[in-house]
Amino acid sequence: MSVVSSLTFISNQPIQRDRRPMSEKVVGILGVRGGQLGRMLAASASLLNVKVIILDAGEHAPAKQIVAPSAPHLTHVDGSFADPDKIRELASKVDILTVEIEHVDAATLEEVRVASQGSELAIHPSPLTIQIIQDKFWQKQHLSSHGLPVYEFLEVKSSVDAVHGAAQNLGLPLMLKSRTLAYDGRGNFVLRSLDQTEEAISALGDRPLYAEKWVPFVKEIAVMVVRTAEGEVQSYPVVETIHKENICHLVFAPLRSRDPLLSQKARSIAEKAIRAFSGAGVFGVEMFLMENGDIFVNEIAPRPHNSGHYTIEACETSQYENHLRAILSLPLGSTALKVPSAAMLNLIGHSSSMEEITKITNTALNTPGASVHLYGKSECRKGRKMGHITLVAESDAQLRARLRPLLQSLPESSS
Ligand code: ATP
Ligand code: MG
Ligand code: MG
Repeated sequence: MSVVSSLTFISNQPIQRDRRPMSEKVVGILGVRGGQLGRMLAASASLLNVKVIILDAGEHAPAKQIVAPSAPHLTHVDGSFADPDKIRELASKVDILTVEIEHVDAATLEEVRVASQGSELAIHPSPLTIQIIQDKFWQKQHLSSHGLPVYEFLEVKSSVDAVHGAAQNLGLPLMLKSRTLAYDGRGNFVLRSLDQTEEAISALGDRPLYAEKWVPFVKEIAVMVVRTAEGEVQSYPVVETIHKENICHLVFAPLRSRDPLLSQKARSIAEKAIRAFSGAGVFGVEMFLMENGDIFVNEIAPRPHNSGHYTIEACETSQYENHLRAILSLPLGSTALKVPSAAMLNLIGHSSSMEEITKITNTALNTPGASVHLYGKSECRKGRKMGHITLVAESDAQLRARLRPLLQSLPESSS
């Protein structure tokens, strides 16, 4: 074919080529009210021409702001991830269901899975995986039974005697945790003395509880793992996570350690943990690093994770894109870092005013290597994740120098 005729051939096709979707499949996301993970997943989907429908109670939810409904039958659903009818409605509109939160109604997802057998509908990760992970006690039992290192834990009834028994068994301080609906440490109570037992029980409400032995860790680390429906797993680099008041504050990638084998060990544990579940997608594996180099799994998130935000700018394929690739059965992308050093700073609301967030955002706009992500949340509240900043640099020293003015822009109590 001559150059001219091949150009003619191309020019006859452009509209069809541009409109061809990456995948014909429509993805439905069970969203948490005002969630940022669904927003970043939807942003990633739009780059791949993947159609997305969001189930979220907010009409102008962060994720819905990103993707406009692309056809009348593809309109978003206003409702809760815990409402069976809304989940069924979403399922009727999509080819693949996925989640941005683990606290969804897993029983309805399982019912939808059973009812859809023989059809094309897929649910990722599997309802069983979500069911195990959403109960942190079952999750720990599951990990333990698959030979993963977890610190001592036991079931405990919501009574003074039962908590005293657990404290006798595991010692003080004792970490009392709600088995379900926990996030950002809401659902944890550190029992330092037996006098606090009643306060702990009333603070944790009527929710089923379990207890964990106090872990004297030196660092918290995390690894994102992406898993295909067939069970192939690939891990991202190990990161250090720094929490403040139980909320992730800073993430550093990659983890620096004098032990050259530590990162490989952490990645192997994280991969093994995710092999123990079923279904496709990305998973966040939170771990404790001990003084002697031992590693214990804290918990797993069956979805994109705060500790993986940095992958958008710092890795060859972001956690969001790899989640989509995994659930759409597309080839997985490389999880390698593409910069020598990276950090992620969460922008946490300090009060009802957006002023502090705006201040640090302006500093970031003047910082080389900084990328600002704002989540489009309608209201700022103390403790609410309003956005994050990713920093990339050529070295750790450069990263620290770039991070300093950002930390200095934070309100006094949160820097
Ligand atoms: P997330 O927002 O990550 O889902 P969560 O509410 O599920 O949080 P955990 O991850 O269980 O809560 O705990 C929150 C934080 O509390 C941990 O990141 C860690 O700093 C601390 N922590 C949890 N368990 C223990 C423990 N057994 N011993 C000591 N510290 C702990
Ligand atoms: Mg959790
Ligand atoms: Mg956690």
